[in-house]
Amino acid sequence: ARLNNHFQFVDVGRQDPAKKALKTRKTQFVEIYQPFTEEQVQGQAHRCLECGNPYCEWKCPVHNFIPNWLKLISEGNIFEAAELSHQTNSLPEVCGRVCPQDRLCEGACTLNDGFGAVTIGNAEKYITDTAFAMGWKPDMSKVVWTDKKVAVIGAGPAGIGCADVLVRNGVKPVVFDRYPEIGGLLTFGIPEFKLEKSVLTRRREIFTEMGIEFRLNTEVGKDITMEELLRDYDAVFMGMGTYKYMKGGFPGENLAGVYDALPFLVANVNRNMGFEKDPADYISVEGKRVVVLGGGDTAMDCNRTSIRQQAASVTCAYRRDEANMPGSKREVVNAKQEGVKFLFNRQPVEIVGDGKVEGVKVVTTKLGEPDVNGRRRPEVIPGSEEIVPADVVLVAFGFQPDPAPWFADHDISVNDWGGVEAKEAQTYKFQTTNPKVFAGGDMVRGSDLVVTAIWEGREAAEGILDYLDL
Ligand code: FAD
Ligand code: SF4
Repeated sequence: ARLNNHFQFVDVGRQDPAKKALKTRKTQFVEIYQPFTEEQVQGQAHRCLECGNPYCEWKCPVHNFIPNWLKLISEGNIFEAAELSHQTNSLPEVCGRVCPQDRLCEGACTLNDGFGAVTIGNAEKYITDTAFAMGWKPDMSKVVWTDKKVAVIGAGPAGIGCADVLVRNGVKPVVFDRYPEIGGLLTFGIPEFKLEKSVLTRRREIFTEMGIEFRLNTEVGKDITMEELLRDYDAVFMGMGTYKYMKGGFPGENLAGVYDALPFLVANVNRNMGFEKDPADYISVEGKRVVVLGGGDTAMDCNRTSIRQQAASVTCAYRRDEANMPGSKREVVNAKQEGVKFLFNRQPVEIVGDGKVEGVKVVTTKLGEPDVNGRRRPEVIPGSEEIVPADVVLVAFGFQPDPAPWFADHDISVNDWGGVEAKEAQTYKFQTTNPKVFAGGDMVRGSDLVVTAIWEGREAAEGILDYLDL
């Protein structure tokens, strides 16, 4: 009877999966959402209107066949749904967990206008998690192997997206990463409460079975040279991310107790995963008053990691208002629930302290008129200075590309902000100025999202296949 109910979206409201108890969330590094039950996910999938022109699909950067796999879920066809979902996305269960759906697929869902969008992200996560648990594996039986092999630098979402498309087209990808596990920022950046690390471990096993070779703990430029890669492989893909920290450019940034966001997050992951080399690398904020500067995903992850490390208090200062925060709205709500205090419209001007941090001097801002890009710049209100007391300051102002010295030796050009020059709209998609080298993800577009990095990696693989005349 349900299958024929076209008004399911009225009868059944949007339902997000239940969250774990706050007590657990505030102390443990585990995913905060309970998985959907079969009944819940089917109830949500049935709500899809199957619009003739699916805006969700268009807004999703990898253009997932969303209404089609929702229909398969509602019919209980999980294996077919998994097969279809993998035609467009290399890490659907990851995107289902960490995409800012409110600005992407779900934001574009027709039902978002009053009825509540279909919970697309959670349905996507459900498909792959359930299919894997039921023993499903990507079907490689029809792959015709070629004699080509491609070196992929970086096992982040861009490198994985590229390797996935290559291997499915019979090209052998060998992926080099300096870290001991695949995933890039998915593993060494995004904390467990958004994405548990077992998701990537399982993926490494699946990809390895599919024919992707991973050479971990291997840094290109140190343990192996670009010359060797260019000599031994038919093409090279670079998906190396952006790792240069942006600074505030105000006094006091070098005081003891001021840390960049990523070393703090990575040290926490390393301790939790048993990758810690030296206990001195760990940055503990237990019992401390923490101030986080920034308003994006990285800032939210610092806030919520500090809560779980039992900080005495966590305050997040952001220079715009809540509506103009760049990160996922869902994670801001989660941070608030877990006890983070937000100071909006506050711009840091100095970190104060005698030898070590004692507080952050902020001024209050108001939003000015929109600029040419439609973004409203914060303007300072005179005489609004105040000091927010702090024992630890975590700086999360974002990242910039940091071109390796060896790029120039191999004719790989970068633009004026350090991004590698490679575009979609050219004869071979995402080819760099060295014809044998392709690039994608954060190092090309600047820090962005997991799903856009996957998309560029996949598109670059298409460019490589064309370049190799396959
Ligand atoms: P990366 O993920 O950075 O991977 C690059 C890989 O290349 C790394 O593994 C690195 O070790 C390797 N590498 C670099 N140089 C070398 C070398 N010389 N030799 C060998 N290996 C090398 N996005 C979302 O969509 N949702 C989120 O919730 C979200 N949260 C985030 C939270 C944090 C804290 C951060 C920092 C980012 C977050 N992002 C989020 C952004 C997202 O993680 C990135 O946009 C995405 O990971 C970029 O993928 P990438 O493959 O281009 O680079
Ligand atoms: Fe939505 Fe991201 Fe999945 Fe696309 S990949 S359907 S944007 S959750």
